[in-house]
Amino acid sequence: MARIYLSSPTMHGDEQRFVKEAFDTNWVAPLGPNVNTFEQEMAQYTGCGYAAALSSGTAAIHLGLKLLGVEQGDVVFVSSLTFSASCNPIVYEKATPVLIDSEPDTWNLSPQALERAFEKYPHPKAVIVVHLYGTPAKMDEIMEICNRHQVPILEDAAESLGSTYHGIATGTFGRIGVYSFNGNKIITTSGGGMMVSKDAALVQEARVLSTQARDAARHYQHSKIGYNYRMSNVVAGIGRGQLLHMEEHKALKKKLYQQYHAAFADIEAIDMNPMNPAGDANNWLSCITLKAGSGVTPIQIMDALEAEDIESRPIWKPMHLQPVFASYDFFSHNGGQGSGVDSVGEDIFNRGLCLPSDIKNTDQDMEKIISIVRSQFGLS
Ligand SMILES: *Cc1c(COP(=O)(O)O)cnc(C)c1O
Repeated sequence: MARIYLSSPTMHGDEQRFVKEAFDTNWVAPLGPNVNTFEQEMAQYTGCGYAAALSSGTAAIHLGLKLLGVEQGDVVFVSSLTFSASCNPIVYEKATPVLIDSEPDTWNLSPQALERAFEKYPHPKAVIVVHLYGTPAKMDEIMEICNRHQVPILEDAAESLGSTYHGIATGTFGRIGVYSFNGNKIITTSGGGMMVSKDAALVQEARVLSTQARDAARHYQHSKIGYNYRMSNVVAGIGRGQLLHMEEHKALKKKLYQQYHAAFADIEAIDMNPMNPAGDANNWLSCITLKAGSGVTPIQIMDALEAEDIESRPIWKPMHLQPVFASYDFFSHNGGQGSGVDSVGEDIFNRGLCLPSDIKNTDQDMEKIISIVRSQFGLS
């Protein structure tokens, strides 16, 4: 039996067609027709206006912060319950992350904790909002607060391409949005990222900075520090092929979530990761939490799955609990401040896990996974 993965790449053949085109025309370069077209297609798919294709989601967050003027000593608010890549670029710029807890309804940035963070730090340079596991954050509340304080939002939509909120794509609410095409994301280019914005000049500046910030002069002249962050034309070909199958991937991810939901409906101790009723999630990863006192732990389930060659994963460990970020200020949903307090993020981390969410899972694979989870509760 083949290993069952958490979320592995699913290729269709169209990717190779665009890659072949790049080879046939010798556009094996960090610029070229696939890059330009992939940007246009992403701008169109998300409805955001403009897009810049970059080497990774992390690079897109880094350039996004630079474009928002984040510098040494600035404060940037960021969701604590996320992957470290949401937070690292703040430190690249020697700015100071202030970590914001999740709320339990969507597992995303808590508007209550955000309000309290603004009381102590009235002038952050930016707020990074993550749409965790594809579930849209409470953008109405978050945007109201950020607009009132006139602070721009950078949306880390790395996990939520295809998710919508009030029918509008996540990643297009903030001044800047970021998507990732890493290997396990809903669509992949093997590695890559995209920055989107309604501001054409901002996106154009991202293209300049990502190609070493060369001035418009015939000789090599530089007035700013640049980066080598552009997406290659070969990689963009993979992305164009994948984007053709985006809605299909989303539908399959949703089906997996619904299969798990139905299969665990009779187990009181299991909750699925939450959806946002104001939105439509891409269901990138299906997750569960186990009620305290159920006698079953996430590690027990992960071990039982691994014994059958099935991959699963812990919930992201919150940034305020990470050794490297522990010294930064943290605002919890329930009112506490500092790294030692009870937090919603820590509770989700302690009680949760990500189930295999690979769209190549067959119904038979799903039955196998489900029966292993159920057997931990003594159920068939
Ligand atoms: C994957 C991911 C990123 C980073 O994207 P890369 O393309 O891997 O650099 C950033 N934030 C979140 C929440 C992610 O899941």
